[in-house]
Amino acid sequence: MNDEMVVKRTVCQFCHARCRVEVHSKNGHLVKIEPDKTFPRWDVVFPSISDCMRVKGAKEFMEHPDRLNFPLKRVGEKGEGKWQKIPWEQALDEVAAKLTKIKEQYGAEAIGASTGTGRSWYKFMTRFLHLLGSPNQGGASAICHGPAVVVANALLGWAVRHRTGVTIDSLGGKLVTKCVMLIGINPSQAYPRLWKSIREGKKLGVKVILMDPRATMVTELTDLHLQHRPGTDTPLLLSIINVLIEKGLYDKEFVDKWCYGFDKVAERAREYPPEKVAEITWVPANKIREAAMMFGQNRPAQIVHGMGMEHLQDATGAIQARFILSALNGTIDAPGGDYMPGPSKLRGAPEEEELVGMLSPAQKAKQLGSDRFKLMAWPGRDLIQSYTRKVWGRECSEVGLTCDAHMPTLYRAMITGKPYPVKAFFTVFSNPMVTQANTKLVYKALKSLDLYVVHDYWRTPSAELADYVFPCACWMERPWLWDQYNEDNDIYAAEAGLPSTIPGEYEHRTGYEFFRGLGIRMGQEKHWPWKNLEEVFEWKIEPLGTTFKEFMDKGGYYFPPPDYKKYERQGFATPTGKCELYSTIYEKLGYDPLPHYKEPFETLVSRPDLAKEYPLMLITGGRFHPMFHSEHRQISSARERHPNPLVQINPQTAAKFGIEDGDWAWIETPRGRIRMKCQHLDGIDPRVVHVEHGWWFPELPGEEPWLHGVWESNANVLTEDDPDVCDKIHGGWPLKTGLCKVYKVKTYESKT
Ligand code: SF4
Repeated sequence: MNDEMVVKRTVCQFCHARCRVEVHSKNGHLVKIEPDKTFPRWDVVFPSISDCMRVKGAKEFMEHPDRLNFPLKRVGEKGEGKWQKIPWEQALDEVAAKLTKIKEQYGAEAIGASTGTGRSWYKFMTRFLHLLGSPNQGGASAICHGPAVVVANALLGWAVRHRTGVTIDSLGGKLVTKCVMLIGINPSQAYPRLWKSIREGKKLGVKVILMDPRATMVTELTDLHLQHRPGTDTPLLLSIINVLIEKGLYDKEFVDKWCYGFDKVAERAREYPPEKVAEITWVPANKIREAAMMFGQNRPAQIVHGMGMEHLQDATGAIQARFILSALNGTIDAPGGDYMPGPSKLRGAPEEEELVGMLSPAQKAKQLGSDRFKLMAWPGRDLIQSYTRKVWGRECSEVGLTCDAHMPTLYRAMITGKPYPVKAFFTVFSNPMVTQANTKLVYKALKSLDLYVVHDYWRTPSAELADYVFPCACWMERPWLWDQYNEDNDIYAAEAGLPSTIPGEYEHRTGYEFFRGLGIRMGQEKHWPWKNLEEVFEWKIEPLGTTFKEFMDKGGYYFPPPDYKKYERQGFATPTGKCELYSTIYEKLGYDPLPHYKEPFETLVSRPDLAKEYPLMLITGGRFHPMFHSEHRQISSARERHPNPLVQINPQTAAKFGIEDGDWAWIETPRGRIRMKCQHLDGIDPRVVHVEHGWWFPELPGEEPWLHGVWESNANVLTEDDPDVCDKIHGGWPLKTGLCKVYKVKTYESKT
């Protein structure tokens, strides 16, 4: 240990903004975190971390008495809260022995896994499962980055990245986009770096169009706000497409030469004239026309979304319509638009890092839900990659492209044993009791397992149901080398700022070490040649002709100059070689090749019968600082800033139900009820309420029935995950559709 201050340059991963920071420590203990001012344009591109409550809570995160520091084994009944501390090696021995037994008895497919938001190194969980023979990994991807990535891959042959910092060039500080259309996104809370970029762009004259059922802080910057009915993004976008085509406000040259299916899109879009769509969406026809004109006349325009559209019942259709709009704007792989970087220069293609070839076709075919929801599963992945390989010479990472088991189907298999039993499950930096839809079903599923293993920072409500809980190294305790799962050719690196183990104090391990430990015990030794992530990263970085240390010494980033319009020399990696407005991939998989609108399963229109009892539309999933999904609830500074879960209700509606601003209110759907504090919000339609997601209360007891208050204010008690109501193409579950009622919590029921 060193008594001197040690400073390491790293990248904060409390959220996805990737702020470059310096971790200052003494004797292995965190002293403070400062911005890394060596990064060019850090003042414009990266938000000021001094405003960030998450990073302010870093010391508490590291030293919190509830942080998991040693492996724990359940000694009482599941959920009884009785744990025994055991050594890492013993815990891994026991888990490996149990997994081996389950595999022998039920097959490798009986072992599943779920991950969280991708801020670690999941590829090695995938490697472990492939070597084991299981196709059943999943997680939050279907409602996170997954749909946008798979749809882009299907239509364009690669994922798109906002290489330019959206409105301004990351390194040059010049305006590169004339118009930004934000769809279902509130970057002021969700993406601080993006928010900063938009504010900077606004000063330089960028036009901002917002499509969001709520007025948020973004509204202050918007030139036009389309406040649509939740779940109606697809018809709204189709109507804008219709106007653009009608007015000829599109890039004819790009469309004629490089797009497939324009006439069919035009025909489909004609079914969505603004007057008709105004009735569906609640957006006046003149505003739809105005949006189309603003978007079409200010080229290049850029569309930014995430995750509003990803939470729709027809996420894949809405996202397809969004890419059609970009294509009409001529901004696919063009400056100021949807940049398609192509594969990274790092090592780590799926066949060498995730070992995709080790999973046999017979095991792939067993992936749960992949017979029905094919796009984000093996059928879609194999089809898409056959074109990717030809054009790019390399596949997109399996984790990056997202090839998931369908989580609602996986949970049902745990409970029913159909179509086959699922007996063991890992959750890795993820808390499905709070973050997956239909908590009651997830609870039943986790309780039914023979073996449930958690690798996490905390004993979350999910971890409380586990058999073994392993402590995980956080971003400050591990190095990082990031190319967005090999989707991007921008590369970020970070040193470990703190040790992952301090003898006698804590023993955290990375996901790599965790799965390597299990893999070696299960006969996979020759496939785990690197002892730790440092060695993995030396192997990955070799093609850049440098070592990890040299790379860090030179700044720890590699941003090659953009290489636009690659399609002119190589075509698009799609079946037609073009940008597919009409998706032949969707068609080959048996789906409608064009976006279309179908009223969602539970709305004021589709269920007027239910609406008599549940007269309001429920939406959830909107981000709010300082929490990040289900994290940070135990960090005092974060809880002081945001102590209670909030339901946002229009004051008119609240008055109708006698709910004052600050009152506790019940929110009830046909699936259950929770209570939250009411926040009056003028900028939400009186027919809509928004409930915050991710709430649990670490301060409440962990044993059942409390499970840290998981039934109190958890939005997913209200949501539906029935496969029949999931997105037909990729299987995502709807978080922006559903009916609810609200009523005041009576004094004797009140929390405070
Ligand atoms: S915004 Fe805050 S939490 Fe997110 S990366 Fe930056 S400093 Fe970390």
